[in-house]
Amino acid sequence: MLDMIIRGGSIVDGTGAAPVVGDIGIRDGRIVAVGQVDEPAVETVDADGLVVCPGFVDPHTHYDAQIFWDPRTTPSNLFGVTSMIGGNCGFTLAPLGDESDGEYLKKMMVKVEGMALEALELGVPWNWRSFGEYLDRVAENGTAINVGFLVGHCALRRLVMKDDSVGHEATEEQVEHMRRLLKESIEAGGLGFSTGRSFTHNDWDGNPVPSRWAAWDEVLELCRETSAHPGTTLEWVADGCLNGFADDEVELMTKMSVEGGRPLNWNVLTIDSARPEAYRNQIAACEKANSEGAKIVALTMPVLVGMNMSLGTFCALHQLPEWKTIFSLDYPERMAKLRDPEVVTWLENQAALPEAGVFSRLTGWDNYQVGDTYSAANEGLKGRTLGDIARERGKRAFHTMVEIALEDDLATVWWPLPTDDDAESWRLRAQAWEHEAVMIGGSDAGAHLDRMAGAPYTTAWLADCLHGRQLTSMPNAVRHLTDVPARLFGLRDRGRVAEGYFADLVLFDADEIGATDVELVFDLPGDSKRLYSEATGIQRVMVNGVTTVVDGQPTDALPGKVLRSGADTDTVPVP
Ligand SMILES: [Zn+2]
Repeated sequence: MLDMIIRGGSIVDGTGAAPVVGDIGIRDGRIVAVGQVDEPAVETVDADGLVVCPGFVDPHTHYDAQIFWDPRTTPSNLFGVTSMIGGNCGFTLAPLGDESDGEYLKKMMVKVEGMALEALELGVPWNWRSFGEYLDRVAENGTAINVGFLVGHCALRRLVMKDDSVGHEATEEQVEHMRRLLKESIEAGGLGFSTGRSFTHNDWDGNPVPSRWAAWDEVLELCRETSAHPGTTLEWVADGCLNGFADDEVELMTKMSVEGGRPLNWNVLTIDSARPEAYRNQIAACEKANSEGAKIVALTMPVLVGMNMSLGTFCALHQLPEWKTIFSLDYPERMAKLRDPEVVTWLENQAALPEAGVFSRLTGWDNYQVGDTYSAANEGLKGRTLGDIARERGKRAFHTMVEIALEDDLATVWWPLPTDDDAESWRLRAQAWEHEAVMIGGSDAGAHLDRMAGAPYTTAWLADCLHGRQLTSMPNAVRHLTDVPARLFGLRDRGRVAEGYFADLVLFDADEIGATDVELVFDLPGDSKRLYSEATGIQRVMVNGVTTVVDGQPTDALPGKVLRSGADTDTVPVP
């Protein structure tokens, strides 16, 4: 007797093969038969006219905190994600040595990943010390999606070095202490090691986060420890991930992967035909490292993810050259400065410098759309572009932006329209998707909650492949969303529709698949805000043989597993 038969679906198995109509038999959470299935079953699901494919694997999320107050990890569950990796970029909530560590990491997360402090305080129990205890708390609390967590460098360093973790290199004893902690954390199920050296990552006080102060020896010692454990992996984010890698960064990431004996993924590769040298440098960096025995994989998003901006709260605009000098001022002072047209012109000129790098994408002021506004003076502006309003007012677009923002005490929400939605950029992206050092991912789901919504990339891309630009076939897109990431992380028996594999499945209507428009909702603990969207066309999602979504709505079930290294993953060798 089977637990379930999914009858007559168009099976897209995750290998890239063309769809085949057939049945799927499920027992004890696994697929036990594919093809014509005659055995009786407790439950039969009619999949006639639907695509049945493996559940999606999101390789880069930051749900480490949200998973406590929202064990369904919305909205990724609705978008068909059935397994995901957390603990990226060096940022995890464990291990903790004492309360001061939790305080530090909490505030750091607010800054680096745009999480709301109220949500982290009200929604997270903080009732663990070791990494293993953290994983146990997640498992006890339940999860709708299978989730594995890397061990973050910042937490290790903070626990060992306390306040000296910022501004200091570690002593030999401290590195040894971190190594022991990492060993213990991975033995308890941590999926590997993540670290960050990106100039964009600063803590609550505005100082570089702990991992940015680590000497190469420290980083490499932790990578070598990772290599001693089966089924582990490495992840990092560095300056070069944004602006192109310098030679020393290529050398370090090569060493990390070679000495760590594991694949190293980084995010996120941005492809823009206006700056082709940046992504060419990044692909060449991966190729060079891989020719020297490393396995480096760049994550790239297959859809354009809008990110909103603000002159009031911290956002990517603050990364423009020298903008910090104005935007680190408190509100009254900042507003006083912005009332001075010379300052505004200076900001505009700074933004146009080549040093803006990848952030120069944000300086097409004409193409900023006004989002939510708050003052009477700005009524009626929502939805209009700055270029349009500026022409009406006979002013420059950026000056108009500041003028509007000042009326709202800087709270105006801005949506830059994409500057890289041209055919050539898309041609280059489609080419990159098939490069062996490139993998689809980088949603950052669970982070930057009120700025961007990366989670919809799965169904949004499928819609684009089926009904939009059609840059690759739907079965190939499914492969990129399932088997490819499952193999990079060595997820055992996941990522395909095949006998013996876990029944992590998505059933969708190919005509309806897609995502709703992103909107701002206030549903986090403490009524803090986030951007939200839902999938369309998802008829059913199953995790370990249990249905978690029906007709686009979540069920009460929490059948996900905490994926532990070695037990749930196989070692992916570095060539
Ligand atoms: Zn990240």
